[in-house]
This record gives sequence, C-alpha cells and structure tokens, in this order.
Amino acid sequence: MTHRATYRGRFAPSPTGPLHAGSLVSALASFLDARAHRGRWIVRIEDIDAPRTVPGAADDILATLAHFGMHSDEPPVWQSERGDAYQAAFERLQATSLIYPCGCTRREIADSLVDAHARHATLAYPGTCRNGLHGKPARAWRLRVPDGAAAVVAFDDRWQGTQSQNLATEVGDFALKRADGLWAYQLAVVVDDADAGITHVVRGADLLDSTARQIYLQQCLDAPTPAYLHVPVVNNGIGEKLSKQTGAAPLDRNAPLGALIEAARHLDIEVAANDLDAFYSIATAEWARRFAR
Ligand code: GLU
Repeated sequence: MTHRATYRGRFAPSPTGPLHAGSLVSALASFLDARAHRGRWIVRIEDIDAPRTVPGAADDILATLAHFGMHSDEPPVWQSERGDAYQAAFERLQATSLIYPCGCTRREIADSLVDAHARHATLAYPGTCRNGLHGKPARAWRLRVPDGAAAVVAFDDRWQGTQSQNLATEVGDFALKRADGLWAYQLAVVVDDADAGITHVVRGADLLDSTARQIYLQQCLDAPTPAYLHVPVVNNGIGEKLSKQTGAAPLDRNAPLGALIEAARHLDIEVAANDLDAFYSIATAEWARRFAR
C-alpha cells in the first residue's frame, strides 16, 4: 500500500434531503477506501447552494451516517463557512486574467449554438463574452479553457478506467461564480479538496463528467490532482439516477445493516454479517483486496 500514512478521503453530501440508497453507496465506497488504505475519512457538507439547501438536512445526514457506523475522522467541513477561501482563489485567478465576466443568459447560449442538433447534444459555452461584454451587464464569471490539443484532459479512474474530455468542445469556458452571485460547485470542490489535503476522491459516476473541469482548475490554482474513483450510480426502476426527485426513500436509521449489505452488493462486494463491526471488517477486507494498492 503506497498511500498508507497519507491517504485523505472525503464524503461530500449536498444537504438537499436525507441520505438514500444512492448516496449511501458513495458514502460507503469512500469510507471503505479510506479504511482499506488506513487513511482518514472526512465529511464535507456541501451547503454552498443556499436555495437548494434544506434546513436540518445536514444534521440529519450526519446522524444517519453515525447510525450506519461512519464517523468523520475530523470535524465536518461546511462549505457555507468557506466563502473567504473561495474568494481568495477567485482573486488569484482574476489576477492572471484566466477568468472573465459573462453577460449571457442560458437562452442566449442555447440560441447561439449552430444548429438544433448541437443545441441538444451539448451546451458547450461558445465563448461569446471572452473578449468583452458587448454592453451587457456582467452575470457570471467564467474560467477560460485552453484551445486545441491542450483542451484535452485525460485521467485514469480507478473504477471506470481511462477517461478523457475535450474542455473546449464538450464544456467551453465554465462558470466559477454564478449569475445569482453564488460560488459554483466546481470552484468550491477544488478549493475544498486542496485545502483539506484530499488525496483520493471516491464518489458517484454522475460526477465523472465534472472531473476534467476540476483537474484543469487544480492546474490553474497549482493544486495537486487527487486519485479518482467513480462508483456506478444507483438507478430507480426506470433507469433514472436515484435521488429525492426520482423518488428515493430516506434510509431507515434503525435498520442500517440491510441497507449497507445492499450498498455493498452494488459495489460487487458480498457480505454476510450479523452486526456492523463484522460488516465493516469483511467489506473493508474485500475492498482492500481490490483497491488498496
Ligand atoms: N455534493 C456533491 C453531491 O452530493 C458531491 C460532490 C463531490 O463528491 O465532489 O452530488
């Protein structure tokens, strides 16, 4: 095991509702990976998006994790308390002219894409405000992505294998500060992971698509790139990602073992156990066999 002493992992739920079978899979995978590497596991409450944050949900998530035997090794980090760190990173980027104000509305961005097919296939920002606002008021702030070959970001995902994304054609210059004045998820995650010294990110595959942006942003901020592992998302019966919107039921705090065994099975780990300690020792050993290299 190479990362034995230095491994730092995290679970970063958004407090938009209670934990469900889908978020449990991400929590468990990140927890097992940290344990298998004898590392630290830190919970970060991603409550940066105030309009989507549900009062009480963060405490509910922390209490549920505790019932499921998962305790943050350090006091949880709250994004709502980290505005100064995001502002400092933003100013650093501003000083290098890597970011610029953008006055486009969503509608204008969609309309400017060359044809209907492109509009449906991608919403890559076409760079309209790269060279000035054209008299429009500033709404968001965007990070300039490179052109040509430098736009391709590739990485090896420990579960999904080699990944690559062309930031120029598939994403375009992306927002770090939103039109509503809030920090964008991409900026917050990169700054938080860097400040917490996170070495390994383990999360759901719905975030695979954000990873190239985060790696590029790490490079812009001279921050190290962690190792990534994206676990398959849990779907509901009709192929949608399980979430509050698609009808996920909250976890039953009083019956953690059944839900954990189910989550482990989703991660291709079979665990027959009668108590939480036995569950974690079998599941950690299984996970270590596969991933603790
Ligand atoms: N807060 C994000 C979510 O709940 C996860 C972010 C991350 O793990 O990087 O989907």
